[in-house]
Amino acid sequence: MRPVNDKYKIGFGYGEEYPIELQKSLGINKHKGVDYYTIKGIKVISPVNGILTEIGEKALMGKYIIIGFESMKKKFRFTAMHLSKVLIENVSPVMKVKKEQVIALTGDTGTFYNGRKHPHCHCQIDKWDEKEMKWVDVNPSFVFGKV
Ligand SMILES: [Zn+2]
Repeated sequence: MRPVNDKYKIGFGYGEEYPIELQKSLGINKHKGVDYYTIKGIKVISPVNGILTEIGEKALMGKYIIIGFESMKKKFRFTAMHLSKVLIENVSPVMKVKKEQVIALTGDTGTFYNGRKHPHCHCQIDKWDEKEMKWVDVNPSFVFGKV
């Protein structure tokens, strides 16, 4: 399930390479998520049944929300960033989020790699790598559908 309405197109896809000069300054070679280009204030829905893991705001990500979930007995997390507003609150230690629940509104917070702000929702799926003990981005098509 897509986190934003079908009519909003993908601008920058999963695994696409950043321009060389940006690879150096960002320290990242490839795009770790999918960018859905929207206008500001479009609903973001949870593509999974999961647990609210984190809500916050950082220089690069802007306002963001992270939802943890399991699939095929593995641990994953869904992250949406550059939001204008998060619509759910962390009011209990284990806060369940339902698939299709409206969780946030799109925006243009955070840092944009080309310096030009345009509202979009960066949506990413990470898998917990038990050997490396860290989160690793994966192709999100198994959650979002075709990307
Ligand atoms: Zn992005």
